[in-house]
Amino acid sequence: MPVNTESYQQLISQECMKNVQLVAVSKTKPNEDIMSLYHLGQRDFGENYVQELVDKAAILPSDIHWHFIGHLQSNKVKYIAPFVYLIQGVDSEKLLIEINKQAQKNNRVIDVLLQVHIATEETKFGFDEMALLELMQSGRIAQYTHIKVRGLMGMASFSDDQKLIQQELFSLKNTFNKCTQPIHLPAFDILSMGMSSDYSIAIEQGSTLIRLGSLLFGARNYKK
Ligand SMILES: *Cc1c(COP(=O)(O)O)cnc(C)c1O
Repeated sequence: MPVNTESYQQLISQECMKNVQLVAVSKTKPNEDIMSLYHLGQRDFGENYVQELVDKAAILPSDIHWHFIGHLQSNKVKYIAPFVYLIQGVDSEKLLIEINKQAQKNNRVIDVLLQVHIATEETKFGFDEMALLELMQSGRIAQYTHIKVRGLMGMASFSDDQKLIQQELFSLKNTFNKCTQPIHLPAFDILSMGMSSDYSIAIEQGSTLIRLGSLLFGARNYKK
């Protein structure tokens, strides 16, 4: 299936996208597909698998901003630390510590988002709100000098229930506000929520960054 460049053009010209960043989620998709959006000006791409990301980054243009959006294992941070642009979905302090260590080794400060568990499914990753607020208020983040915590990321339930999705995304925005009000981390300004099926709701609920895969690249085939 070809890349849906029309959907892409249409989307980025929309009024509601003025203050929302688009990450094109290219996991499982070939380099040609990435390049067809690249030629239209897209620079932010999201990947879920470390090896796939490393392979693509080695070949594709160096001005691409690579977002890691999947579940990241601590022992794999070292492979993406030299070049990754934003690690979305940091779901434990252990991972934060490892990213800090690898960033330091690479003489970098790596931007990250903390993932919050908002969905009904147990299988999704992330901090619950209490643990997140505890971490935010503890002052420990300031010790991780090679990390910049830029905001939060979350995924709503995989569901047709629009009301449920809206409530979950609303709760994430609420959590985001609780993090920004008392604390004032210098650059805490990204709220990553919204995928192909729920990005409109997510923007309504205050998303600043949406992650779109299938809408742009077509359905994924995991069996290759
Ligand atoms: C795959 C993925 C997306 C994109 O999903 P689509 O439904 O294809 O838009 C967004 N966010 C995360 C975390 C993903 O894993």
